[in-house]
Amino acid sequence: MNNPQSWEARADEYSLYGFTDLPSVHERGAVVLTHGEGPYVFDVNGKRYLDANSGLWNMVAGFDHKGLADAAKAQYDRFPGYHAFFGRMSDQTVMLSEKLVDVSPFDHGRVFYTNSGSEANDTMVKMLWFLHASEGNPKRRKILTRWNAYHGVTVVSASMTGKPYNEVFGLPMEGFLHLTCPHYWRFGEPGETEEQFVARLARELEETIEREGADTIAGFFAEPVMGAGGVIPPAKGYFQAIQPILKKHGIPLISDEVICGFGRTGNTWGCQTYGFTPDAIISSKNLTAGLFPMGAVILGPDLADRMQAAAEKIEEFPHGFTASGHPVGCAIALKAIDVVMNEGLADNVKRLAPRLEAGLRAIMERSEHIGELRGIGFMWALEAVKDKATKTPFDGSLSVSERIANTCTDLGLICRPLGQSIVLCPPFILTEAQMDEMFEKLEQALNKVFAEVA
Ligand code: PMP
Repeated sequence: MNNPQSWEARADEYSLYGFTDLPSVHERGAVVLTHGEGPYVFDVNGKRYLDANSGLWNMVAGFDHKGLADAAKAQYDRFPGYHAFFGRMSDQTVMLSEKLVDVSPFDHGRVFYTNSGSEANDTMVKMLWFLHASEGNPKRRKILTRWNAYHGVTVVSASMTGKPYNEVFGLPMEGFLHLTCPHYWRFGEPGETEEQFVARLARELEETIEREGADTIAGFFAEPVMGAGGVIPPAKGYFQAIQPILKKHGIPLISDEVICGFGRTGNTWGCQTYGFTPDAIISSKNLTAGLFPMGAVILGPDLADRMQAAAEKIEEFPHGFTASGHPVGCAIALKAIDVVMNEGLADNVKRLAPRLEAGLRAIMERSEHIGELRGIGFMWALEAVKDKATKTPFDGSLSVSERIANTCTDLGLICRPLGQSIVLCPPFILTEAQMDEMFEKLEQALNKVFAEVA
């Protein structure tokens, strides 16, 4: 950092960092990366890191998949860009929509493209507002989500996100309501069984709908496993308890599968893992294996038909982005789906998930300060606690999870601090040996930091 010509100093001078702990990055310097190999990334100094975060959950095929790069190159050579307005779209866009409906849990459906997960959630909200208004229910505008949910950063998707940091923006906007996070270990009352906890959350939903009026609610959004909220799988039976209530009141259930989609939980979709069929799916990240910024709204049969009817009524759906359905993004997504589903990546997640869980569980059992291991498939979190028995967290000022993540970085392992948790969501190509390297470095970092703070 002392050399003003260093990459770190240049990054620090010219970048407005997002979602970055500034004191820590000023002290340590940014990690400036040049290239990758499999699940590894390399910085400007040649140091190698095992990226146990898959970038931001998205680089599921690793950082040098030749087939994906070739698909991108071939499409750039053939037809490098087009939009999807005015009844025109690329052949790749048509093929991807067919493919997405085909691999979705829906018999039939329709797809709309965006550039990100945030925009896909915003688009879904606009679709719901559009279709309810068109059906004579213009008051149906409120959106239900949960505390700790992460749905994005645009004004609407940030309003859906259930995180206190959005208060600095004066968000959520009015009409975005957050229900209890279905994390039994943390939010279950003393003496309350998991079943009773789920029944309480179902009652809360029912009471909220009654209080607000079903005729004012546009939809309910949920990640099957909350990702950026700290990898929180739903309490047992949660979706089975809430879906009938939503159905009874005619409230669409939207599954935000930006992280869970395409294999992360061990099935194509997280909703399949948790046994529910939503009315629509939001996809992004893994959709292009992280190689292209792209999101998609996949409408199930009911919403697809109703949206089409609503659009026919005024002769258009007045919405879309310049790069919606970009041919290169679509070509990459077609290849990514093939790579994940047919080249053994999804199978690798299924095969190695029990090994990943067992290794992390062993680390938890050896540690005095890991209170909970939670997750599924290739998405896990270890929660640091001061006291295991009482689940008392460490004092926030100790920044325990940030220190663990920084120590991991020093050791050549990238993992992510989220609240008091450390998150691991490796690329789907991870081998047993790479997994062992991850366990070893993680445990070394945990031991070092806990010895310092406990
Ligand atoms: N939904 C979920 C579940 C996410 O995890 C994210 C991103 N982490 C988003 C939406 C927003 O996606 P993006 O960052 O592409 O806008």
